[in-house]
Amino acid sequence: MLIVQKYGGTSMGDCDRIQNVANRVLETKKIGHSLVVVVSAMSGQTDTLIGYTKHFSKLPIEREVDMVLSSGERITSALLAIALDSMGYKSISLSGRGAGIITDGVHTKARIEYINTQKITDLLNEGYIVVVSGFQGVTEKGEVTTLGRGGSDLSAVALAGALNADLCEIYTDVDGVYTTDPRIEKNAKKINKISYDEMLELASMGAKVLLNRSVELAKKWNVPLVTRSSFTHDEGTLITTEENIMEKPIVSGIALDKNQARVSIANVQDRPGIAADIFGSLADNNINVDMIVQTIGRDGKTDIDFTISESETDLTKKVLDKFLDNVESIDYDCDIAKVSIVGVGMKSHSGVASAAFKALAKENINIMMISTSEIKVSMIINIKYSELAVRTLHSVYELDK
Ligand code: ADP
Ligand code: ASP
Ligand code: MG
Repeated sequence: MLIVQKYGGTSMGDCDRIQNVANRVLETKKIGHSLVVVVSAMSGQTDTLIGYTKHFSKLPIEREVDMVLSSGERITSALLAIALDSMGYKSISLSGRGAGIITDGVHTKARIEYINTQKITDLLNEGYIVVVSGFQGVTEKGEVTTLGRGGSDLSAVALAGALNADLCEIYTDVDGVYTTDPRIEKNAKKINKISYDEMLELASMGAKVLLNRSVELAKKWNVPLVTRSSFTHDEGTLITTEENIMEKPIVSGIALDKNQARVSIANVQDRPGIAADIFGSLADNNINVDMIVQTIGRDGKTDIDFTISESETDLTKKVLDKFLDNVESIDYDCDIAKVSIVGVGMKSHSGVASAAFKALAKENINIMMISTSEIKVSMIINIKYSELAVRTLHSVYELDK
């Protein structure tokens, strides 16, 4: 079998942990499988590197940011290759460029366009364990890019898809996907199997155990995906098609995203094209907008509220400043969080959303914005209530049972 394994930042956190990863990798190698191992930087390293770039500028040149950030994963991949080699196994590390991961040129959140797998395939045929630096690629012109925070998951799934691997295993610091973040709710339960669609919603809504884009790709290419712990031998969670899951709970999980900010634009002219102007400018700068609410117009004016990632607040300010002359005010609120309920069973059950509203009201938690899809309800609330909201909703839907 060809297996792609990915080890996250905590698993690669220091030299002892990298040694532990080397031992885990060899357990699989000794069974006779071919192995590509994707690694993250040591935990905290990417944050430290971002801090360095911001020392000099609030909005550092993104090309240079990528040069800095990509170094974290180069270090860990080479260290793991050294560890494996010293244990008597042929191993080689490859950067994103070396691994043939070709991306577009959107620095700090590049998308993978394709992967030239020839070099990896040749190395696997020669018996090497191939260790790839996650989170990075290179443009056709040779510029180094990174894939966005949590991007090593995407590197792993993309490589698994491109190499037609039999399995992609994501090793992290929890032994699978839980009904909610086990750091917030200690009664959260491990889910043995979850559908791609539910996992995609949970991940998109903030469950960072998997990057949403990696789940999207796994679904598209039918990559069998498992998340498990690098510190235990427990079985983990299988992410698979809905048909493979017998029991479908109404609600599968609760997600929390604290990295959110709300932008409120007051007294915008209520005329055709204004939304296109504002959101077009944001899109031109690759700023992702999530929930959008526009109030009913009065006296030819309207208010528009929407949410963005908190980390893009400075860039958003820079982009929207040119509209200040034509509106009354633009306010930014970073003290918000998004809490979401996800479950495929919602498609056929009513009352799921109203139970959430009732439960939050009972705790005196005000809901500022709401958005729904077929299998999800999301609510924006004040960040100070976010953990209480998660625990409240987790118990309302009896996810601890
Ligand atoms: P890695 O560095 O291995 O990529 P991450 O920190 O990105 O690890 O993701 C693992 C973390 O995701 C866990 O430690 C946990 O706190 C968090 N998490 C959030 N939601 C969930 C969930 N539903 N199930 C499991 N873990 C979750
Ligand atoms: N090191 C990167 C980050 O912290 C990528 C990853 O860990 O997946 O976001
Ligand atoms: Mg991660």
